[in-house]
Amino acid sequence: MTKYVYSFGGGSADGNADQKNLLGGKGANLAEMASLGIPVPAGFTLTTEVCTWYYDHERSYPEELQREVQTALAAVEQTMGARFGDAVDPLLVSVRSGARSSMPGMMETVLNVGLCSTTIPGLVQKTGNERFVYDAYRRLIMMYSDVVMEKAAGVEPAEGQGIRQQLDRMLDEVKKAKGYQSDAELTAPELKDLAARFRTRVREVLGQEFPDDPLEQLWGGIGAVFASWNGKRAISYRRIEGIPDDWGTAVNVQAMVFGNMGDTSATGVAFTRNPATGDSQFYGEWLVNAQGEDVVAGIRTPNPLNDATSNDQNRHLPSLEKAMPDTYRTLHDIRDKLEAHFHDMQDIEFTIQEGRLWMLQTRTGKRTGTAALNMAMDMLAEKLIDERTTVLRVKPEQLDELLHPIVSPAAEQTAKPIAKGLPAGPGGASGQIVFSASDAVAWTKQGKRVLLVREETNPEDVEGMRAAVGILTGRGGMTSHAALVARGWGKCCIVGAGMLEIDAHKKTVSVSGQTYREGDALTLNGTRGLVYAGALAMVDSTENPRFQDFMRLADALRRLKVRTNADTPEDAAKARAFGAEGIGLFRTEHMFYGKGSEEPLFLLRKMIMSGTVEERRHALTELFPFVKKDMKATMAAMEGLPVTIRLLDPPLHEFVPNRPDEREKLAKALGITAEQLNRRAEELHENNPMMGHRGVRLGITFPEISEMQFRAILEAAGELSREGQKTFPEIMVPVVDLKSELDDQLVIAKRVHHEVCEKLGVAEIPHLYGTMIEIPRASLTAAEIAKTAEFFSFGTNDLTQMTFGFSRDDIGGFMPDYLDKGILKVDPFQVIDRDSVGELVRIGIERGRSTRAGLKVGICGEHGGEPSSVEFCHQVGMDYVSCSPFRVPIARLAAAHAAIQHG
Ligand code: PEP
Ligand code: MG
Repeated sequence: MTKYVYSFGGGSADGNADQKNLLGGKGANLAEMASLGIPVPAGFTLTTEVCTWYYDHERSYPEELQREVQTALAAVEQTMGARFGDAVDPLLVSVRSGARSSMPGMMETVLNVGLCSTTIPGLVQKTGNERFVYDAYRRLIMMYSDVVMEKAAGVEPAEGQGIRQQLDRMLDEVKKAKGYQSDAELTAPELKDLAARFRTRVREVLGQEFPDDPLEQLWGGIGAVFASWNGKRAISYRRIEGIPDDWGTAVNVQAMVFGNMGDTSATGVAFTRNPATGDSQFYGEWLVNAQGEDVVAGIRTPNPLNDATSNDQNRHLPSLEKAMPDTYRTLHDIRDKLEAHFHDMQDIEFTIQEGRLWMLQTRTGKRTGTAALNMAMDMLAEKLIDERTTVLRVKPEQLDELLHPIVSPAAEQTAKPIAKGLPAGPGGASGQIVFSASDAVAWTKQGKRVLLVREETNPEDVEGMRAAVGILTGRGGMTSHAALVARGWGKCCIVGAGMLEIDAHKKTVSVSGQTYREGDALTLNGTRGLVYAGALAMVDSTENPRFQDFMRLADALRRLKVRTNADTPEDAAKARAFGAEGIGLFRTEHMFYGKGSEEPLFLLRKMIMSGTVEERRHALTELFPFVKKDMKATMAAMEGLPVTIRLLDPPLHEFVPNRPDEREKLAKALGITAEQLNRRAEELHENNPMMGHRGVRLGITFPEISEMQFRAILEAAGELSREGQKTFPEIMVPVVDLKSELDDQLVIAKRVHHEVCEKLGVAEIPHLYGTMIEIPRASLTAAEIAKTAEFFSFGTNDLTQMTFGFSRDDIGGFMPDYLDKGILKVDPFQVIDRDSVGELVRIGIERGRSTRAGLKVGICGEHGGEPSSVEFCHQVGMDYVSCSPFRVPIARLAAAHAAIQHG
């Protein structure tokens, strides 16, 4: 028979901490604490299965439930030595929700259940505190009428006319009439009178009596909590957090204890270690003569728990350690016991009722990235946890925080974002806004810190992007040009903030009726995609000395290799410092962006705009030394580690200059008129460049372009080895659909290899010849393609674009709505969509390895640095992932997590 109700208290419990699915997080941990002999007010938990039953059976309960609740209630009465509904010694209970994972504030709670005309006199007698009793009673009426009689009953009051608001106003009127500042000044007779008037108002507004029967109150509370699982707030929270609707919530009914019974009573919240720094110090806040919600509500400044917790705001207030030393000592012992038992930092709630300590909750505490790292390493040293657990304790995303300056969390808490975009580049930045790349460069030269604000960015903006401390665009997606470039540099960047009206001519950006002009300060949180007005404080990324030790532990546990996407020797060196084990993607076209790129960019443009093979060959010959030099320097920086060099995949239109002076210069160099050049530029225009003349298609129509690159790669590698340096290039062909495309290019590669070997007088230049898989057709025909390709690298940016039919560069227009409305849970350009793109990856690997056993497989799309996608790459048996330098540590840790969790 199914057991629906689990009891706890008095040193024992039916359930335990492993039963979170059944008892919810709160119920499971209350049971565990009770079994450990920690003082928790006795109570019982109605399981999540009751919730499921309730919704499966038109909001009714299983038959046995009533009897089980009665039995459990009797046990509580026994343990607490008081009786529910008793006229002499009444027991009061709380009714609270508790889902598997915490949904803070999203569901309902009713406190003080059991107060009624029969029990009130008894409680007054027992406590000798009439004021306290009527205060508890008026709180019960407020909570119950709101939660049970209004919300759970589906009553939808007009704006501002909710019963809770009406009763609050009555309370305020009394305070105003008496000239009171706080609720605490209300006297017993005033509260008694107020409670009576509350009941009348409830009857008038809701057409029903406030129930005077304790059992009716109890079942009303239970029903309201179950009903709140499907309240608006809870549903939208579940959407955001990805919590399934069918989990259901448990309901915890627990004996009330009161922290507001006078000066020997108190309530508080604490963390067993400091959640901000990770320091192993008991950390918390408390209030004398108060209820739990008073601490969290922030109306009164809470006292520090101890010296370690005191700060400028609370230093003048007595600590619990000083005010109630014995109780503090007991609490401290419980802290030690909980940590020794749960092997993790706990977030606890406690109440002291007339000198007696009660624990109301314990759960694993949330923490910052820095704290997570410090705590994990401390607990390892304390032998509280093993190495695998240590590695699992830090979430890969949390490393972000350790590697970049971030917006001060305290400053962010009080600021309201003015706009939201996609979180394209990590960390935080604040600075003066400018609207052109050239201004960004000029202002930076004057020593200013600037944010570059653009509708969208293109290669001409790169200098300015480099100079700016942060980048903000109105359009574009996570794999748009600005995002790729910014992430590569580890630069703070927000793209696709569509609500911004950016006017580059007037040099203004407007949002919600506010206009910000050139030179005004804004702040970006690139990790969350939030834009703030003004300059918020920043916190510096202090390279934690323990970071390296921690990463060594992680590395020892992972199977996936981690490479980087880098296109310059500087980025390559940075990535190696972050632990990269090779380059997984050298995008040749990126050498035409940024510092020192003027001349090669001009030559590239000349090549693109050439009208004949001769012209093109001429431009390519001029370009060759630049390309070779760049490749050589990057290969040298990697000192023998594999370097995957991708043939040019330029979006041609992006490289056609727009500025008239540049067009003129180009026309002159080509010996043609401006009109002729304009015509050629028009011919290059494509309606759908993402599916146009790009990648290998360029090499098929203009073999000389591929030839130049093969030569540059092989000569660079050959020369390096002649100079005594190890190198290992992997030549990668992009945007491949067909094996025949690869074969076509391979003929050229082989010929060039032969020629370069002859020139350098060597028998062979070791290298691999492989392909990107970024088109669904290539995945599906991977068995064929692998007959030629010696390695695959999944280009999941394009693969996602082609699979969803979402343009990488245009998703800013609709992705925010898709996410807001829950049409998509996550942006598929950030997190690999396992059902579609993931399936194509799996098929590609399987079929590729069916014709070439041991085919080397990696990923170089942006997903290669995203933790859940890295997990997926591990699961499908890739050899490596590749990501931008700043994400290398994140990928290393994610790979370790995947290996620990999936073997
Ligand atoms: C990809 O498509 O995933 C990829 C890495 O190539 P790019 O982003 O340069 O198109
Ligand atoms: Mg691509």
